[in-house]
Amino acid sequence: MSDCIFCRIIKGEIPSDTVYENESVKVFKDINPVAPVHLIIVPKIHINDTEDINDQNKSAVAECLNAVKVAAELAGVEKSGYRLISNYGSDGGQTVNHLHFHLIGGIKMKEGLI
Ligand code: 5GP
Ligand code: ZN
Repeated sequence: MSDCIFCRIIKGEIPSDTVYENESVKVFKDINPVAPVHLIIVPKIHINDTEDINDQNKSAVAECLNAVKVAAELAGVEKSGYRLISNYGSDGGQTVNHLHFHLIGGIKMKEGLI
């Protein structure tokens, strides 16, 4: 989608600090990190959000999840731990409508979520 920020990052039209990519997935640093490690994991095909996952695109989502441990190792948090988050919709606080997973780590987070 030409007006999607993450599609434009994937195409290289907007620069990003990429830490890993393969044929189906790109992992880059969040522009506004909330923790010492804050990576964004995205499928290279445009999927709006978790509600847009279906049988046709589910393999791209699986590739994102497969990239989690690679990204965690590259960031050096595979032993200390991390949190994986995907926001959806208005109540979920999603601001970019291209499915993505936040990998957050490098700090001791409280137990629980909100
Ligand atoms: P959401 O709020 O949709 O769950 O997460 C979107 C994330 O994308 C935010 O954490 C935000 O900082 C990040 N973000 C938005 N625009 C850009 C950008 O142009 N480059 C990068 N690297 N991250 C972005
Ligand atoms: Zn997109």
